[in-house]
Amino acid sequence: MNGAPCVNCAQPMTALNFRDVPISVCPRCHGLWFPGESVRIVRTMDTDRLSQLEALNKPVAHVPAPSAGRFCPDDMNELRKHPYAFDRQVVVEGCDTCEGIWFDAGELDTLEEALALKETAGPPPAAKQTAAIAEVEHLGEMEHLSKVNAALEAIRHRILWPGL
Ligand SMILES: [Zn+2]
Ligand SMILES: [Zn+2]
Repeated sequence: MNGAPCVNCAQPMTALNFRDVPISVCPRCHGLWFPGESVRIVRTMDTDRLSQLEALNKPVAHVPAPSAGRFCPDDMNELRKHPYAFDRQVVVEGCDTCEGIWFDAGELDTLEEALALKETAGPPPAAKQTAAIAEVEHLGEMEHLSKVNAALEAIRHRILWPGL
């Protein structure tokens, strides 16, 4: 949505089109919003495009998070935090209604780093997996989280755009 308020600082966001992937970026705090419709498409995004997204997502100035929760720019429902599976350092905020995903400035880089470390360290121990699964079940967010994780794994694997 063009001109929708930034999730973080309420500045009107700029709508961008990355090869048919509609996203919004905040010109003030550089947060990125992926509307629900774009999450599926992100998995087909190529490396160059993802590098551009990461560049757009670099923090420029410290903009404090709002104290009163964060809301979806498309439908105004409150965003919920979804810990990335097996890694509590990476928390993604998403809208349960439209399945959009919000990245604060710098979070795409953080995600890349965390996933690179995870790969170096190998698969997590079974105990860690059990704890992560229990946490997900506790939150009752299995379905949405799996969609978020699918999108993020796709970013991680940088699947090439078909037909190029
Ligand atoms: Zn902002
Ligand atoms: Zn929404």
